[in-house]
Formats: sequence, structure tokens, C-alpha cells
Amino acid sequence: MIETPDEYRKLVEQKMLARTERHVRENQAEQDEQAREAQATQVAQARAEHAVQLHAAERRQQDEVAEARRSRPTLMAQFRSNPAGLRHVATLREVCLHCGSEQVRCQSDTLPRVLVCPDCGTQWSAYSCWSCATGLLDTRDPETPPCPQCGWSKCAVCGACNPRGCSTNPYNSELRQRDEVTV
Ligand SMILES: [Zn+2]
Ligand SMILES: [Zn+2]
Ligand SMILES: [Zn+2]
Repeated sequence: MIETPDEYRKLVEQKMLARTERHVRENQAEQDEQAREAQATQVAQARAEHAVQLHAAERRQQDEVAEARRSRPTLMAQFRSNPAGLRHVATLREVCLHCGSEQVRCQSDTLPRVLVCPDCGTQWSAYSCWSCATGLLDTRDPETPPCPQCGWSKCAVCGACNPRGCSTNPYNSELRQRDEVTV
């Protein structure tokens, strides 16, 4: 029964080895657990940051809408007396300059986009130029007046008017100013 010193030493070595292995396993498990916790924390932090950003973006948008609403009466008075440049004022694009109604209806979505005020019947058009990339048109703006030839509003940037073509300029829907620029 009594082991030889060699056998005894072997037994001790096996036990120590087993203990070391157990420690390694336990350490590994602990590290895994810590990594999982760290990752969970990171995910939660990212989520929280994202929520904060979303909230901030929402607030900014609400502020912009509120600011546009606040500045609208001043802008209305300003552009009623001098409508030059009105096409650039986004907050007035779909507001009736005649009676102040904001319940404007879009009567036609094809160009020129016709807007009509249900309260006073005023009609106007406000749209982006089909020919160039930057022009805006508004029939209420004297800087984009109706073309004497075709009656369409004339773009202050490229001079285009009727998308079917007009003798006053070289542009039509097949030959837009923006195509010339990119070519
Ligand atoms: Zn109106
Ligand atoms: Zn244009
Ligand atoms: Zn024309």
C-alpha cells in the first residue's frame, strides 16, 4: 500500500497540476465574466448616448420650427412690402402672403407646382428650378418674373423657364443647365 517515494512524488505533482489547472479555469471564467460585463456596460452607454443625441436632434428641430413660427410675422410684413428674394424664404414658401393662412393646399404636383390658399383663394407657385441645381422660383417673387414668351417663371440663376423649351433660352427638359455643368 505504501507508495514508493517516486510514486508519492508523482501523486503530489498530479495534485498540484490539477490545482493549477483548476485555478487557470477559474481565472478564465472570471475574466470572461468581466469582459461580458464590460461589453454590456459599453452597449448600455452607447444606447444612452444615442438616446441623448436623438433627443438633442429632436429638440433642435422643434427649436427651428418654433423659431420659424416666431420669425414668420416679421418676415411676412417684410416680404409683403418688398417680395424680392421671397423664393429663398423656406418658412413662407407654403404660407399665404395675402392672408397669412398656413393651411395651403397643393393643387398640382407636376411643374409648375401650384399652391392655393383655401381661405382667400390666392394661387402661386413655388418650386426648385428643373434646369439648374440651385435656382428657386416663386411666382410671388419679382426676381423670378413670368417669361414674356411662355409665361413660366424665369430662373434668376440660369434663365430657364418652360421645360418644353422657349425661344428666350437654350434649355429644355432634355438639355438642362445642370447637365452642361456636370459634363
Ligand atoms: Zn390666403
Ligand atoms: Zn435655373
Ligand atoms: Zn419662356
